[in-house]
Amino acid sequence: MRRPGFTLTELLVVIAIIGILMSLLFPAFLAVRNAARSTQCLNNLRQFGLALHAHAGNHPRGQLCSGAFDPTRDGPVEIFSWVADCVRQNTLPSTLLCPSSSCLGDEQLNNLLAKNPIDNKVTPPDRRTGSSLYLSQTWGAESDPDRTEWVRTNLVLKGFNTNYAASWHLVRGGPKNVNGKTQGSLRNLAGCTGPLTLHALDGARVPDSTVAILGCADKSDDGWNRLSTAIRPPASLRLGDGVLLSENFNDGPAMNITSSKPSLPPKFAPVPNGTPMTWLSPASFPVEGDIVKEEAKFTGSESIPLVLQDTRDWRAWHGGSLNLLFADGSVRKVYDTNHDGYINPGFAIQPKPDTTLTGYTDNRCEVNPWELYPGAFLEQGVNRKAYE
Ligand SMILES: [Zn+2]
Repeated sequence: MRRPGFTLTELLVVIAIIGILMSLLFPAFLAVRNAARSTQCLNNLRQFGLALHAHAGNHPRGQLCSGAFDPTRDGPVEIFSWVADCVRQNTLPSTLLCPSSSCLGDEQLNNLLAKNPIDNKVTPPDRRTGSSLYLSQTWGAESDPDRTEWVRTNLVLKGFNTNYAASWHLVRGGPKNVNGKTQGSLRNLAGCTGPLTLHALDGARVPDSTVAILGCADKSDDGWNRLSTAIRPPASLRLGDGVLLSENFNDGPAMNITSSKPSLPPKFAPVPNGTPMTWLSPASFPVEGDIVKEEAKFTGSESIPLVLQDTRDWRAWHGGSLNLLFADGSVRKVYDTNHDGYINPGFAIQPKPDTTLTGYTDNRCEVNPWELYPGAFLEQGVNRKAYE
């Protein structure tokens, strides 16, 4: 007499069918989850845009932010940073992290937990004061529990943490013109005009909607990208020992310098001290799909390298796209067509490069200059008709 129920064979068939269904549905489930996360990220960026425009509205020159979230270069981050400007508008960046990023905090947390982060050589004098973290003489060296507690209660719990990276335009504005040349590093405030203003955008030939100001940050450099000391409680901060930290702001104008040995890929270099301003104004920019072979062809001179914005502190975490906030408050995706994680504005990376050297893996321009402006000067402008 056969008992009612499944035979072993029937059971195995059912399990196999469930397995096949799961394997069919799982990618769809992942796609839905990725899309939801990207939407959440775009909403975060939209909120930062509202907060920064509210900040600009209260500022005499319409400055969109007070600086980078970088205590070494820009001073106390709870006073001078785009993060602080958001916190003052009750938009808390620590609660608005990009949900697709592997990074749970900013690389500068390590600086804040360690030595005095203020660097007198690069921090402007009027920004070297005002914060008990920087003024206190009682802090010990690295991993001082009192110091960790100060960072926890006065920064992280109050909203000061992020995994978004600023554009160079947002926190540096443009290069300072000293007798027709750049002065010092364009990463430092001293070499630049200062954070982006509505006034500068009004006078710009570049539309606000093409000037990116914030985006999902790439992980910070190896050897520097792990949180040195856990920041807790609460556990919901997820800032345990060694969690991955993100980049802070993009390096700005950079040039390809062709290696003296043609077999090696070109080296990236930030624009050095004393670079003629004319080098920072290419006659035209590469457009999406261009295979950029000769970096000099856009300048009209063989000897001048093409200068573009280095975008590698942003990463396309969202299944092949990067989410960006633009200066007009709009948010938009840009697509990483070669899947190397970065959006190449037209650097002439040779095929099969050492990617640890450049980040970008090939020389195909991935974005149009009238969609994501790659130049140094907002006054320069991109005449789209010139490309059609
Ligand atoms: Zn994101």
